[in-house]
Amino acid sequence: MKVRFWGVRGYVPTPNAAMLRYGGNTCCTAVTGDHGELVILDTGTGFCLLGDELMQGEFGRGRGSLTLLISHTYWDHILGLPFPGVVHIPGNRLDIYGPESTRGSLQMVYDGMLSPVYSPVYGLAHIGATHRFTTISTEPFTIGRLTARALPLSRRQHSPIWAYRLEEDGRALVYITDARYGEEGIRDEAIAFAQQANVLIHSAPYLRDEQVEDYGQSRIEDAIEVALLAGVEQLLIFHHAPTRTDDELDAIVAHFRAWLAAQNSSLRLIAAAEGMELRV
Ligand SMILES: [Zn+2]
Repeated sequence: MKVRFWGVRGYVPTPNAAMLRYGGNTCCTAVTGDHGELVILDTGTGFCLLGDELMQGEFGRGRGSLTLLISHTYWDHILGLPFPGVVHIPGNRLDIYGPESTRGSLQMVYDGMLSPVYSPVYGLAHIGATHRFTTISTEPFTIGRLTARALPLSRRQHSPIWAYRLEEDGRALVYITDARYGEEGIRDEAIAFAQQANVLIHSAPYLRDEQVEDYGQSRIEDAIEVALLAGVEQLLIFHHAPTRTDDELDAIVAHFRAWLAAQNSSLRLIAAAEGMELRV
């Protein structure tokens, strides 16, 4: 598998000159399996950049197929879906997996987002690509030769948040975002879920001592603790705070790398940046 980041910012896009190195688009990560399976984790505004690139290949001719794994439906994780041309070209195929909330299915949420109130698309029925929605559960499923599993990370039924684990040939990538570790048992379940992952992608917008309203979102120290306790090889933090400049992010990573070195830890810590690509 290989992974590429198309959007790493949390909450809102940040087209800010001091944030261009890490990038200002919201959450979108692409995983490509060794046999060509294309899996997209969340469709924040980074999905628009990815869509532009996909138009150069099979998707531009209406012969593309991709799988979307949606963690939850806050704006920074869904906003990019309706914009790229790839979703409007007949013949393209979107397999969309995500959670169902007590307020409605994932399909209803996306349909509402495309209602005439918000968008000229006038609803999902007017998207050209063939699309199929599947409500996720903890049952493993396959995407081509990849095995996928999902884990609920919040007990809040009106806004369920799920993590994903993708495996291929004994290699594993885990995606955890917006985890609510303040809720009982969630952190232990996340550690078990991320066990021995080669790559853990974890949201981490703020430090523990920053006084901000994060609505229960895990902090950078939480992401590092989970990675250490799960025996992860590489931790990529993302969902960077919209106020965080590139230089500040560099300093934070340098600080925690020094701390890890002092602990004799082999954990590799990286702050994900738009355009960054690595093998799992
Ligand atoms: Zn988020």
